[in-house]
Formats: sequence, structure tokens, C-alpha cells
Amino acid sequence: NKPAVTVLGLGAMGRALASALLAAGHPTTVWNRSPGKGVELVDAGAVEVGTAAEAVQASRLVIVCLLDHQSVVDVLATTSLSGRIVVDLTTGTPAQGRALAEWVTGRDADFLDGGIMAIPPMIGEPGAFVLYSGSRAAFDTYESVLGAFGGSRYVGANPGFASLYDIALLSGMYGMFAGIGQAFALIASEGLSAAEFAPMLTRWLVAMTGMIATTGASVDKGVHNVGVTSNLAMQSAGFSNLIDTAVDQGVSPELLAPLGDVLAERVADGHGDDSVGGIIEVLRKGGRWS
Ligand code: NDP
Repeated sequence: NKPAVTVLGLGAMGRALASALLAAGHPTTVWNRSPGKGVELVDAGAVEVGTAAEAVQASRLVIVCLLDHQSVVDVLATTSLSGRIVVDLTTGTPAQGRALAEWVTGRDADFLDGGIMAIPPMIGEPGAFVLYSGSRAAFDTYESVLGAFGGSRYVGANPGFASLYDIALLSGMYGMFAGIGQAFALIASEGLSAAEFAPMLTRWLVAMTGMIATTGASVDKGVHNVGVTSNLAMQSAGFSNLIDTAVDQGVSPELLAPLGDVLAERVADGHGDDSVGGIIEVLRKGGRWS
């Protein structure tokens, strides 16, 4: 007999999570603020209830996947959490994860925060994975259930860590989106085919991913001046070509220009001989947001 599970929130992601649980054979109770989103899940065997409080009563393990942190707090406040294991898969910040952990555990429940690294159609497929942090005991007890969603990675007892890893991965992704957008804008500025250019860009970006591992190692050591093949002073000087070309082509350099500023600051700080990974030392000063 597989453990019963409750899913709060039947948006695109909540529905995918609930259907993966049903496919894995778990008795599944679902709830959504607006009715009507659980029809296909009910056809597949789920029980849909009218209130979040009823849904939480139905299962010890409660998966939450709502729009944002505030909606999670608002919904959980209407329920009795005592004895429950709450797994929040709503995207949020590390601070929100820690605050929710305190709030949930203060209501005699156990807590895991999660970060879903997948889009809904990937849920239950091998490419999907979910980051978890918080209660190790809860993770160990329910790892096999959570495995219905895809791979599971427990990243630490600090409940903010799942969000930290999630946001770090998304930061890498959005940085890549910025570069890809700029590359296509340049190609399109001459009426060239972006689709034909795409394989060349893919090949180049894949070749550049080798720097992720080497940069990670140098960040851990705090040493950025060993084995440097493309020094920062050269890169900073060359970066002006990116700005000038964009401007000449009538394309805004607004996404990449701040990176040029950070490269220049690192060189001005006396680290022109270092590798590009040294820019994290500038970022760690906090900038004008600190
Ligand atoms: P949707 O917009 O499809 O669904 C949002 C859900 O939140 C709905 O169930 C909605 O209910 C509910 N909701 C919103 N506000 C409230 C509220 N104040 N009280 C109660 N319920 C509320 O979003 P997704 O399902 O796609 O995303 C859900 C979470 O999953 C987000 O945090 C998102 O960042 C995360 N996620 C999504 C991914 C994706 O690709 N879709 C990928 C990775 C993470 P109602 O139907 O009543 O509006």
C-alpha cells in the first residue's frame, strides 16, 4: 500500500505533480482555489475536495505548489498542520523558505522546501529533478514517494538551500538567455537567418561549458590566477567590441553592458592577469543593491 498524498494547487505544475503521484499508485487528494481544474485527475482516480483544510486532513504528506510564497502562507493558514509533512514546491527565495520552515514547524509539522528543475511535461520523466532542503528525516521517509516527480536531490538541512540552488541554476539560465537574445539580435540586424545560425551558437555555447567546472574549482579555492589562458585584461579590452558592434547594428547592448562594467572593475582592482571567474569577487561586494 503506497502512502496517501495531498496536493494543494492545481495549476500547470500542481496538475503534473498530482498526475505523477496517481501514475505511481498513490491515493491522491487534490484541492485548488478555483474549482474545475481537477476533472482529469479525478477521472484518473484522485479525490478532489472543496477546502484546503479537508485536503490536509486526508494525507500525512502534503505537497504544496501555488503561485508564490504569500499564497502558500494564506492557504496553509486555513488548515491544521499538526503531524503533517509539508513539502513546498512553490518557487521562492531562500529567506521565504526559512520563514516558511519556522512557521510550519511551529505548527507541529515537519517541513521540506523544494525547487522544481523541470517544466510540467517533464514531471515524472528522467530529465526532471527536484531539489529539497529542510528536514532530513522527512526526506528519507518520503524519498521514494517524491521520486514519482523525477530525480531528487537533498541539498541540506538549511531550509533555504533548495531555493538557493534553484535560483543559482535559474541565474545561470537567465544569463544564458541574455547572451542568446543578444546573439540573435545581432544576426537578425543584417536580415540573416537566426534558425541557420542556431546550430553554430549551440556548438559554441556547449564548447564554453567546460569553464563551469574550472571556475567552480577556482571559486572554492579563492584563487583565480592559476592556469589562465584568457586573461581578464584582454577580455575587458575586447568586450568593448561587443558594445560597439551592437550600437553600430542598432541593437541595444543593455543586457551585456553591466558585465563589461564588472570586468572593468575587476581589472581596475588589479586583477587583469586573472581568469574571468574572478568577477565573482566584484559581485560579492554587493554592488549598489547592498
Ligand atoms: P499556474 O499559474 O498554472 O498555477 C498557479 C496556482 O496557484 C493555481 O492553482 C492558482 O489557483 C494558485 N493560486 C494563486 N494564487 C493563489 C492564492 N492567493 N490562493 C490560493 N491559490 C492560489 O502556475 P504553475 O502551476 O505553473 O506554477 C506553480 C509553482 O510552480 C510556481 O511557484 C512556479 O514558479 C513553480 N514552477 C513552475 C514551473 C513551470 O514551468 N510551470 C517550473 C518550475 C517551478 P487558481 O486556479 O485558483 O488561480
